[in-house]
Amino acid sequence: MTTSFSNLQLAPALARAVSEMGYESMTPIQAQAIPVVLTGQDVMGAAQTGTGKTAAFSLPLLQRLLKHENSSTSPARHPVRALVLLPTRELADQVAQQVKAYAKYTQLRSAVVFGGMDMKPQTIELKKGVEVLVATPGRLLDHIEAKNVVLNQVEYVVLDEADRMLDIGFLPDLQRILSHLPKQRTTLLFSATFSPEIKRLASSYLQNPVTIEVARPNETAATIEQHFYSVSVDDKYRALRQLVKSKGITQAFVFCNSKLGCARLARSLERDGLRTTALHGDKSQDERLKALEAFKQGQVDLLVCTDVAARGLDIKDVPAVFNFDIPFNAEDYVHRIGRTGRAGAQGQSISFVSASDQRLVVDIEKLLKTKIELEAVEFEEDKPRGHMNTGRRAWGNDDPRDAIDAPRESQNRSRSNYASSPRVKHDPFFDTPYEEPSADAVKPAAAPDPLRKSPNIKPKRNVAALFKTTA
Ligand code: AMP
Repeated sequence: MTTSFSNLQLAPALARAVSEMGYESMTPIQAQAIPVVLTGQDVMGAAQTGTGKTAAFSLPLLQRLLKHENSSTSPARHPVRALVLLPTRELADQVAQQVKAYAKYTQLRSAVVFGGMDMKPQTIELKKGVEVLVATPGRLLDHIEAKNVVLNQVEYVVLDEADRMLDIGFLPDLQRILSHLPKQRTTLLFSATFSPEIKRLASSYLQNPVTIEVARPNETAATIEQHFYSVSVDDKYRALRQLVKSKGITQAFVFCNSKLGCARLARSLERDGLRTTALHGDKSQDERLKALEAFKQGQVDLLVCTDVAARGLDIKDVPAVFNFDIPFNAEDYVHRIGRTGRAGAQGQSISFVSASDQRLVVDIEKLLKTKIELEAVEFEEDKPRGHMNTGRRAWGNDDPRDAIDAPRESQNRSRSNYASSPRVKHDPFFDTPYEEPSADAVKPAAAPDPLRKSPNIKPKRNVAALFKTTA
């Protein structure tokens, strides 16, 4: 199979845009999907995030739409011909930017509509006419109902991150939107994972789709080095700071399970002088876009976020992803860590596993079909003074790592305030009760950490075996 863009016979306007983007050869999903989409067949594509799937569908769609290209100012000459639906605002914005870049030298128009923003400017753009419309389902329905857009000339529809759209509960919205489209059309469905629900959706809306899989579904990028650290809930903050420092991490996503946890963690990191911003659902759309932009521009080093940021955000060269909380859904783990190691770059993912995360880690093991090894964090302050520590010696019964979860540490640290310095002034922000993300309400939150049970446990052990030791 050819991997050179030059063999695709893309129209000169598209080839020029691709070469300006600096792409030398096609990524595997592009090499497989572009020729199929160019023939107009339906596609069901399984592709990991960061594999270049946006170009895999946008380039051939734009190529096929070029026959409609015109310079008329009449909106009637620019009906929506391709509709790209995505689950989150950030993702929609990002895909729209890529589409604009690829269509830069054509006369095809594109626009994006998503919630949280004023409808008026979107309405003005829609009324002028656009060939490619990128949208999140909820806001698109608002525009359909307000009669700002008509979709009866749509030839192509792309359901991107389809599994996520179903997770969010977009199925009814999707069905309503699809009912406004002509029956005769090409449908492309992309999903990082192919659950039975996705297959059902595909069987109702796709016709004889060509299935394209560039990697086994649910497989994480080979370029990501994954670490799991056994850390008590109270020590996560300390562990985060320690690992950022010891691993020389310059920029990272830090994922939390709750909005409040996310806001508090970001606040503590900021107070401790780390360049941090937060991205979660309680922020206005404007704040979210600004946070993202600041991170992209390198003005902040840590982006503390909830899963709203987990899907598809394309920020080049983010060297690391922290799972401050293990996600409740194993598939979100794949999406979160997909923020690093993108387009062949090296990345590392660092996850903090505390005692109540047992079931979640087992779910991740099942999904990845691999055994997860737990490691221990070597805290600077716990290292024996006056010794050089290579980190390689065999620890005896006096392994300082056994002190990681010592009650001394746990009791002294307030659960709702991660700030490590006792001189930090009281911040009322932390007075609201802390909503600790808990996957399993039945399990006591203060279950003993498995690593603390036995002083003889080696630093790396199989997770399932470790958890068997908990009473
Ligand atoms: P995506 O999976 O579509 O979000 O793309 C991830 C990143 O890969 C984006 O920054 C794209 O600009 C980049 N990209 C897409 N195709 C290629 C390619 N053929 N060569 C190099 N980078 C690419």
